[in-house]
This record gives sequence, structure tokens and C-alpha cells, in this order.
Amino acid sequence: MKNKILKLKNVSKSYDNYSVLKKLNMELYAGEITCLLGPSGSGKTTIFRIASGLEKADSGEIIKDNTMRLGYVFQEPRLLPWKTVSGNLAFIQQNFLQEEKAAKLRKILLDMAGLKKFKDNYPHELSGGMKQRLELIRAFSIIPDLVFMDEPFKSLDTKTKYNLRKLITVIHQESSISIFLITHDPEEAVLLADKIYILAGGGKGIKEKITIDKDRQERKLSDPYIYGIQEKILNTFTGLVKDLDLKREVIRSSFKK
Ligand code: ADP
Ligand code: MG
Repeated sequence: MKNKILKLKNVSKSYDNYSVLKKLNMELYAGEITCLLGPSGSGKTTIFRIASGLEKADSGEIIKDNTMRLGYVFQEPRLLPWKTVSGNLAFIQQNFLQEEKAAKLRKILLDMAGLKKFKDNYPHELSGGMKQRLELIRAFSIIPDLVFMDEPFKSLDTKTKYNLRKLITVIHQESSISIFLITHDPEEAVLLADKIYILAGGGKGIKEKITIDKDRQERKLSDPYIYGIQEKILNTFTGLVKDLDLKREVIRSSFKK
């Protein structure tokens, strides 16, 4: 039985009068990749901020070991424009690691992420995919216990996404750092997660919890088991996202010249 490292218990949060989270319950276990899936606006970033301690809940409990070292990949890019690629890592590492150890890890991570040649460049000189890889390795560069990632693959092309997934998988496998990954993409969730939580918006809470019992290395989207889970997620999603109101007769007549 794995150790529970974070628990949200009856967590509620409203903005003005809009209830985003209502008595939400969720758990993360040591060494696992936990995915939080949900449509846009359902409250994923709110959970990210509350679970990681960046924001306070209105009520409920967040139970976690406060000595845990946390890494973050934010939804909006947060690289320091005045620091080089290497400097962006060193800047945060200095709070946690001795320089010798930090430099060694920096070298390995930059190498893994294909950024070795760019270590002295500045963020504005990097492509979108390179920046995202830098954000990702920065979170791991402090040897964290738990990394929070808020949609780290957003607006990336297929190849970059594949590379990032691979990077996460390898680091996770070799370090057993726990990961809390937020995404709106079922494909990412079925390929990466040990556990998946599906969030419904408007305070309706966790709609479904799924455990994936298959070695990450052996997962393929075409595998019937994995495909089945993806279908299940899509079906749940279809119920969550309101259908467009398509009044065909009105549309057709409106388009007549
Ligand atoms: P997601 O990350 O799933 O897209 P968010 O957690 O960002 O969703 O937002 C959930 C809901 O809460 C949205 O309707 C959003 O407009 C609202 N919201 C989020 N943050 C704030 C805030 N600081 N002030 C007011 N409303 C907010
Ligand atoms: Mg969000």
C-alpha cells in the first residue's frame, strides 16, 4: 500500500457567488502520477492552486506533509527573461541544492531535454517547445517530492508533446517523484496516469475516479484496455460539456440569400 502524500477533504471554493468547488475530495499517493481531467473552466487550476498551497480554500482541509519539496509547471509560462536557460534552473536550485549537486543535475536535465547547446541562450531565443521543456525540467531540477503541472502540453505540436511525455515518463521512472498532472486531454491521461480524476464544473465535483493498471512503458492508444479507458473518459466528458444548440432549420434558412 502506497503512502498518501496529499489529501483534499471537503474542499470548497467560490469566486464572488460562483461556486467552483463544493466539498471536493481527492487523494495523491507517493510515487504515482495522478491526472486531473476536466473541461475548460471546471476548476482545475483552482485545485492546482489550493492543493499546492498557493491559494486558500473557503472551507475544508488540505492534509499534506509540509516538509515536502514542491515543483511547479504553471499554465502560463513563468521563465525569467533576464536569466539564461541554465540560469533559470540555477536560480531556483540555489534554494534547495548545493551548487556542485545542482550543476551536475542541471547538466543531465539540459542534456535530456535537448537544451545543452542553448544553455547560455535567453528564453526569448527559444522556440515554444524548447521553452516548455525548460519549464518542465526546471520543476524537476530541485529534486522535488511532488511536482504540480497545469496543462504542460497545451498548444504544443504532436512531436513536442510526445517528447515531453517521454521526458516525464523517464524522469518519473528513474526518480519516483510524485506528479499531479492537470490536463484536458484524455489521451495524455491514459498514457501517463496511475489514477485519473474527472472533474465536472460548477461545484459538481469529481465525476469519476479511474485506476489504470498497466505498465506505462507498455501503453499504446490502440491497446483495447487503454482504448476502453479513453472511451469511458470521452463518454463522461460528453456528459459534462454542453452540446451546441444546433437549430438546423433556423441555420439553413438564415444562410439563404
Ligand atoms: P480550469 O483551470 O479548469 O479551466 P479555473 O480553475 O481556472 O478552471 O476556473 C474555474 C472557474 O473559476 C472559472 O469559471 C473561472 O472564471 C473562475 N475563476 C478562477 N479564478 C478566478 C478568480 N481569481 N476570480 C474570479 N473567478 C475566477
Ligand atoms: Mg486552468
